[in-house]
Amino acid sequence: MEKFERVRRALIESGDVREDQILSPDPASRADLLLVHTLEYLDDLDHLRWTPRTACSELPLTAEIVQAYVLAAGGTTLAAREALQRGAGVNIGGGFHHAFADMASGLCYINDLAVAVRVLQREGLVKRAAVVDADLHQGNGTARLFQDDPDVFTLSIHQENLYPVKQRSDLDIGLDNGAGDEDFNRRLADGLGLVWDHRPELVLYQAGADPFEDDQLGSLKLTHAGLECRDRLVLEGCHRHGIPMVVTLGGGYARRLGDTVRIHTRTCQIAIRLAEGRIEAPA
Ligand SMILES: [Zn+2]
Repeated sequence: MEKFERVRRALIESGDVREDQILSPDPASRADLLLVHTLEYLDDLDHLRWTPRTACSELPLTAEIVQAYVLAAGGTTLAAREALQRGAGVNIGGGFHHAFADMASGLCYINDLAVAVRVLQREGLVKRAAVVDADLHQGNGTARLFQDDPDVFTLSIHQENLYPVKQRSDLDIGLDNGAGDEDFNRRLADGLGLVWDHRPELVLYQAGADPFEDDQLGSLKLTHAGLECRDRLVLEGCHRHGIPMVVTLGGGYARRLGDTVRIHTRTCQIAIRLAEGRIEAPA
């Protein structure tokens, strides 16, 4: 959990944001959560009950942890609102892509990505959206939640031979163990063509730091330079197409915490600098 505070500090120290520019979200409301999650499941979380719905979590079930996930959903929703105003919004957190409508999964209780999309759709702020998930792991929860929704395009690029049991995204790019910068980014660039073809009014980017070569959970071999290239493919593409973009951090378990922080910080910086016109996306 330490990485979140470290990324926040790094963004202030680099001058990308001032302390007073950082917004604090409200926790997602019950009505917002119900756009994605079932009443029975939310009730289990409220009462901290181990049931078949919550028992797939790899985390303890405490009030504090549940509140953190509800807050993250509020954070991604707020970042999405800001993105519509400013071109980009960053949640220094979020990206909890394994959570299903009625079931926890992995380290995820609440799917903040799906909550944000559904809230903005409910308010008529967007109709078409896309989730670009470049975490080491497949965005199984997100894929399932939007499986029958033609308005929301889901792309997941991930290590194939790894947790979780795969669901069907609109586009899945499963990489072999050991895949590196060139393989990852070539296939991502190809896949992004379908995202732009979908003409989304909002892109949510799950920018997990765990495809990194020194991550403890995976066998992808992306370098710092390769991850920066990944981020630029997604974020400069959004910028070029005039699509508001939302960054969420997702996973990241590098042996050295400093690597994870560096990867996440750079992702946020690229989004912020593009939106503020401090860097230009190449044509
Ligand atoms: Zn992950």
